[in-house]
Amino acid sequence: MISYPVFLSLGSNLGNRAGTLRQAIDLLAQVCTIKNQSSVYETAAWGNPNQPNYLNQVVEVTTSQSPAEFLQTLHVIENQLGRTRSGKWEARVIDIDILYFANQIINSPELTVPHPYLTERKFVLIPLVEISPQLRHPVVQKKNEELLRVCSDPSVVKRITD
Ligand code: ATP
Ligand code: CA
Ligand code: CA
Repeated sequence: MISYPVFLSLGSNLGNRAGTLRQAIDLLAQVCTIKNQSSVYETAAWGNPNQPNYLNQVVEVTTSQSPAEFLQTLHVIENQLGRTRSGKWEARVIDIDILYFANQIINSPELTVPHPYLTERKFVLIPLVEISPQLRHPVVQKKNEELLRVCSDPSVVKRITD
């Protein structure tokens, strides 16, 4: 069976944020193979002020599921961890996004890969560069470390664990 390398962005800004990130990785480990994980970083909420700071982490996994199937799997995990869906960019106990799915380019109504805001978010790029600086974005054709170097996001992203 073919298995694909996938990079995920995890974020939490409600409840026990660090515990939720650990639980999310435990649940992921039951449905795919964890290859690598970044440190945990703290960042002020991006795009929607007046909400608690996020903890963010990037995790590399492999899966033999299709992108659409894997997105469903991620939604199940978000639901298991108590995610309720409210307004856009509202505070949430967990958010799991697909950053890269191998080198695929996907533009379906449910799924855009690479993640459309990846290049604009330091809270994604900094942990991503920590674990995969040389990986090349298949659309922009820049390595992650180059994407970070040219990113104009003014956010402060603070590493809080190894
Ligand atoms: P943002 O896209 O700005 O990070 P968000 O993560 O807060 O926003 P959600 O409300 O969690 O957005 O997700 C809305 C929908 O986005 C999901 O139901 C999913 O169908 C869609 N989506 C599109 N591309 C992706 C992707 N690469 N990873 C995860 N979800 C995606
Ligand atoms: Ca998101
Ligand atoms: Ca999401």
